[in-house]
Amino acid sequence: MKRLSDISVIKEILTRHGFNFSKSLGQNFLINPSVCPRMAEESGAAMGVGVLEIGPGIGVLTRELCQRAERVVAVELDKRLLPVLDETLSDLDNVKIVNADVLELDLNKLIAEEFEGLEVVVCANLPYYITSPVIMKLLEDRLPIRAVTVMVQKEAAQRICAPVGSRQSGAVTVAVNFYAEPELLFGVSAGSFMPAPKVDSAVIRLRVLDEPPVDAEPDKFFKTVKAAFSQRRKVISNSLSSGLSKSKDEINQILARAEVSPTARAEQLSLEDFSRISKYI
Ligand code: SAM
Repeated sequence: MKRLSDISVIKEILTRHGFNFSKSLGQNFLINPSVCPRMAEESGAAMGVGVLEIGPGIGVLTRELCQRAERVVAVELDKRLLPVLDETLSDLDNVKIVNADVLELDLNKLIAEEFEGLEVVVCANLPYYITSPVIMKLLEDRLPIRAVTVMVQKEAAQRICAPVGSRQSGAVTVAVNFYAEPELLFGVSAGSFMPAPKVDSAVIRLRVLDEPPVDAEPDKFFKTVKAAFSQRRKVISNSLSSGLSKSKDEINQILARAEVSPTARAEQLSLEDFSRISKYI
């Protein structure tokens, strides 16, 4: 098999299959030969490990994962890529392509059926238009996965990996930290993709926790976090009052019980603060 990260090889395959890139499906394919081996190494792909990939494209990362993992299942939405993947992965016997929208799939079922007896990790160069929904689905569905190693836009990576309670943090930072330990691994320049996107990217890894680090009821916790960050410039008493449709008085009483200052801003609060507020809501 010719090197799939070689741009002339990719162009030849795509031209032969009459393929053109779909912007709306977030199709920016990796052409930098050093990125996929590094991602595959960092993902934890190894013998005894099953890898769930999202959006294999023409299979450049898929091949690297297959060389290391016991088994790889890759979910690709675009039907037009199926004959391409048939060709580019034809020499591999530990891979399966599932033609589906990852957001519609029952991933618990898929993992139980495809990875019996294996440890499971997720590795993907994510389509950027669904970065947050995919990450939240992977974490909220409480899948039996050890880690999620994904390429996302640089700004999203910085936001997700910012310390909770710092200026750069957002609702997604708090949400991710409820389920996992995020870590920014390395940056990837826009020129590493075809077509080149407008912004740079970065690879992050989320190590999934066995238990959330705070004691909270997830529904209430996330409702609180969402309301708190809905107007991030406002003080917490105002954003919670409008976000939860409760009077200022009621919110101030809740904040007093939770021992959180009503003039704090959402980005200054810790996981424990959100957990205590959500208990009294
Ligand atoms: N892994 C390839 C690479 O690194 O070159 C392609 C990555 S490209 C950024 C994103 C891929 O996700 C595309 O192949 C696209 O068709 C696929 N995709 C987009 N939306 C999807 C969805 N909802 N479910 C599954 N795959 C999707």
